[in-house]
Amino acid sequence: MIELKNVSKYFGDTRVLDGVTGKVNRGEIFAVIGPSGSGKSTLLRLIDLLDTPTGGAIRVNGTDIHAEQRNLSIRRMMGMVFQKPAVFNATVAENVAVGLRFRGASKSKIHTRIEEALDMVGLAGYGERRARTLSGGEMQRVALARAMVIEPEILLLDEPTANLDPVSVATIEDLAVRINRDLGTTIVFSTHDMYQGQRLAHRIGVLMNGMFAQVGTPREVFTLPASREVARFVGIEN
Ligand code: ATP
Ligand code: MG
Repeated sequence: MIELKNVSKYFGDTRVLDGVTGKVNRGEIFAVIGPSGSGKSTLLRLIDLLDTPTGGAIRVNGTDIHAEQRNLSIRRMMGMVFQKPAVFNATVAENVAVGLRFRGASKSKIHTRIEEALDMVGLAGYGERRARTLSGGEMQRVALARAMVIEPEILLLDEPTANLDPVSVATIEDLAVRINRDLGTTIVFSTHDMYQGQRLAHRIGVLMNGMFAQVGTPREVFTLPASREVARFVGIEN
């Protein structure tokens, strides 16, 4: 469903991604794991069309997503949750509604969908609360509801549980698994926590030195690391 072909991204002279190649299958939970600064957020932003690659191509269902100037139909297939909980200064309901308004949904449809989405993330009854007064974990769930309400085919989660308390981490993790299982949503998430990768992902891409040092099932990555560096990162010193 998502094909990365030799994707590179430079910021000036800084080489962040340099030859990322791999595939995410439809209906899969795919984890991008790697140390801080390895380019995880950069890669997700490229997939979400928030930035353009310096070289290579990203295809979604066969279409090169950066080939056209504004590929709206592709953009509409994707929902993204950012590393830092990002809500704007309005009610929870308004935060969740943005994507639907953008798509011109009717008032009653918006209302129903907001209720459903908030219910799904365990925030039923929070609609009229000011989003900025919520805890970090709650804000991240609002962000997830906002991404989910448009029923994306692909959900991109950039370190969705960074800086959250253990209970919120577990809640977000359960939600991701449920969304994937019940709705069939393809999920790409990034984490520097290899155990989270192991817990959630069907497959893992280990991002190091600008490329995937290994792509495989958690079992493969943890028991048969492709290099010393991968072994060191997943904590198997040898
Ligand atoms: P973390 O685990 O800390 O979130 P990451 O793997 O997500 O890290 P990125 O945020 O993708 O890493 O950043 C990778 C590198 O690219 C970093 O060195 C960062 O400073 C650099 N970088 C990212 N965005 C820009 C930008 N807009 N301009 C210049 N450098 C950037
Ligand atoms: Mg990041």
